[in-house]
Amino acid sequence: MDFSLNEEQRHWQTEARRFADEEVRPMSLARDQIADPRATFDWEIIKRGSQLGFRTLAVPKEWGGHEADFVTQTLVMIELARGDSSVSKTFSQCWKWSHLVAASCTKDQKERFLKPFMEDDGYLLGKGGTEANAGSDNRMPPENDPKAGWKLRAERDGDDWILNGSKMFIANGSVAKLFFVDARTNPDVGIRQGSTMFIIPKDTPGFRIGKVFNKRGWRFYQNGELIFENCRIPGTNVMGEVNGGVKARANDKSEFGDIELAANALGICEDAVGMAMHFAKNYKRAGKLVIDHQLVQLKLNEMYMLTEALRAFVLRTAWERDRKLPDFGNNVLVMNYSQEVVQRVTKANMEIHGPEGCMMHARVDKLLRDALVWTHLAGDTVQRVKVVKRLPDMPLAM
Ligand SMILES: Cc1cc2nc3c(=O)[nH]c(=O)nc-3n(C[C@H](O)[C@H](O)[C@H](O)COP(=O)(O)OP(=O)(O)OC[C@H]3O[C@@H](n4cnc5c(N)ncnc54)[C@H](O)[C@@H]3O)c2cc1C
Repeated sequence: MDFSLNEEQRHWQTEARRFADEEVRPMSLARDQIADPRATFDWEIIKRGSQLGFRTLAVPKEWGGHEADFVTQTLVMIELARGDSSVSKTFSQCWKWSHLVAASCTKDQKERFLKPFMEDDGYLLGKGGTEANAGSDNRMPPENDPKAGWKLRAERDGDDWILNGSKMFIANGSVAKLFFVDARTNPDVGIRQGSTMFIIPKDTPGFRIGKVFNKRGWRFYQNGELIFENCRIPGTNVMGEVNGGVKARANDKSEFGDIELAANALGICEDAVGMAMHFAKNYKRAGKLVIDHQLVQLKLNEMYMLTEALRAFVLRTAWERDRKLPDFGNNVLVMNYSQEVVQRVTKANMEIHGPEGCMMHARVDKLLRDALVWTHLAGDTVQRVKVVKRLPDMPLAM
């Protein structure tokens, strides 16, 4: 297995590292400290990153994008996350959905949505699935049970659809210009057979943003409530087929998917290891440097070891995906593993730092709060259950 990087991958890695170190990291902590969740967002950094190509990284070259492979997306995500993991997530949220438009939309939809996305540095994307009474069951509904999954209703009216209901915790909620929204078009069957994905511009009458949620971690990242009140959507904004909404995304095997979360976690881990090492080598306790205490050495060893194991797992998974090798479950396992690692590593970093570790002004505390968000990203717990039956026998044929 050859993990050496090609010229293009190195280029993007270097660009992302420079942007993260020089432009993202210096603003990261100050934004995190702002109390109002709507005010934490900084358009300047997003527009600047967009000009450097980070917003449109995954769009095919045919549409003016960079068509970066999965290893490149992983490398960029790691670097940007070292700068600030919620700024990097704002960009990668666009990779998933711009890619889906390019892969699955009609020519007319690409003209209407992908073209403006490519032309406007402030054009962000969001995806609405989760509701107050539907979370992970969006991903693992008890088969064919109409009670499970989203309830937002879409009813046909001539060539149009009328949407009523709401979505919760939706990423880029208060800042996106375009949303991909799952709605129930047949409430009598399960969501696999009875839902449709609609493409909805932000300024559509009957659609508005409600709350912007105030989160403990990833404070820059905007998670909003989407409210639909007799919102009229033309039939030409259906993505894929009516009642084929779940399929529209599931069929797209070339989406970055949850590797983005694992790569993002790796960026945080690198940051935490660097901070812990620096503190341990420069501050004293009991008359000697913190790094000279054996207990701290064991903690640093564990932090380093877990981070390196995560790096190998993430890059291997991205590498396999680039070669279209069969996925026996690594895409999910690497996300599950990243949750364990990012939370253990950031907690150890806090312990090594002493009281400074839990002070609000310090980046140590921010990293731990950011890591906590992984507990509730992408239905991690339910995915752990779901993946088990797909796992192959050991030893794995390579
Ligand atoms: C920062 C952030 C960003 C997000 N962005 C988006 C977004 O852009 N779009 C979007 O649609 N959603 C988004 N979400 C929502 C999130 O992806 C979903 O709510 C996810 O399903 C949460 O999973 P959960 O397991 O944490 O909790 P839930 O699915 O809400 O479950 C609650 C509890 O019930 C358990 N449980 C759930 N289902 C089952 C089951 N079938 N069997 C047994 N136990 C079960 C869970 O393990 C958990 O303990 C975001 C959430 C966060 C925190």
